[in-house]
Amino acid sequence: MPEHYSNQLKAIFSEFVIDAMNGIMVFDGNDQIIFSNNSAAEIYGLTDGNLLYGKTFNQMVSHCHHTNTGLIINTDDLDTWLEYAKNKRRSQNYRRFEIDLQDGRWFQVSEQLVQDNCIVMITTDITDKKDTETRLSNMSKELFLLATTDSLTNAFNRRHFMEKARTEQKRCQREKSGYALLMLDLDSFKAINDNYGHACGDAVLIGIAEMIKVELRDYDLLGRIGGEEFAILLPNTIRTSAFSISERIRCSIENLKIESNGYSVSATVSIGVALDENSNKDLEEMFLIADKLLYHAKENGRNQVVLCK
Ligand code: GH3
Ligand code: MG
Ligand code: MG
Repeated sequence: MPEHYSNQLKAIFSEFVIDAMNGIMVFDGNDQIIFSNNSAAEIYGLTDGNLLYGKTFNQMVSHCHHTNTGLIINTDDLDTWLEYAKNKRRSQNYRRFEIDLQDGRWFQVSEQLVQDNCIVMITTDITDKKDTETRLSNMSKELFLLATTDSLTNAFNRRHFMEKARTEQKRCQREKSGYALLMLDLDSFKAINDNYGHACGDAVLIGIAEMIKVELRDYDLLGRIGGEEFAILLPNTIRTSAFSISERIRCSIENLKIESNGYSVSATVSIGVALDENSNKDLEEMFLIADKLLYHAKENGRNQVVLCK
């Protein structure tokens, strides 16, 4: 092609792409920028692609790091970051990845290795797509919480507790490890509502659930399975620890003072504890046993733990 045509073509091309929505940038084999349009310049915190001519990839990344503009460079050790990027950049003919900028925007970056070890980089603004993804992911987390959690106490709701308990029971059965199921019922709770009001009763339920969580291990399960009734599943638990954990919960609730509506309220609980040391009971049977023992605890005067024989 005659040179004047080729220069004309270059001029038309530059004019055409300089303001294109997608970013276009070309690096030579030494990683020096030989072309950038304005959109691509945003990656390095600049609005004018012409300012990038002759700069190297390393210089521009360092600029972002020092001025906190453009690309987020999440490192305290820039040299290691640059070395890592250098090894990655020409490791494949084609690479695609996502980056985020200091101003909150997200871009998808495609890099194509072309002749003479040059890289052609195309960037697309995907901020809207990312925002939608984040909103959807937050919504599904919220929906999951709503569907599984009791909104007053943040304990699992009845349905979710049953599901988790069944999974845990099966695991314990497979691994032949014992577990305990506790049924808790607040003592004379109706009187708390009657004496101090319903809002105060709610505060007591919240305070007690929080206190129980403090006493439990990470893998124990807590569910609110009725108005003032809670169930707890303690995986991998033998008789002595089932009793000591239950007794610890009972004691800390007895000593808890809940401040609400100008009152300082305390409450007690009765606890029935079923044990499956040999992994041969089904969950329904465990619930029946724990319920019966809870009934005995109430009959015997409340504020106590009754463990199965
Ligand atoms: P017991 O020692 O025999 O268990 O006596 P109790 O008074 O705790 O038992 P009862 O079943 O008679 O009363 C339970 C009370 O719990 C009645 C109900 O109004 C109250 N309750 C249930 N759910 C809630 C709630 O979400 N908030 C409040 N404030 N009270 C609740
Ligand atoms: Mg009850
Ligand atoms: Mg009660």
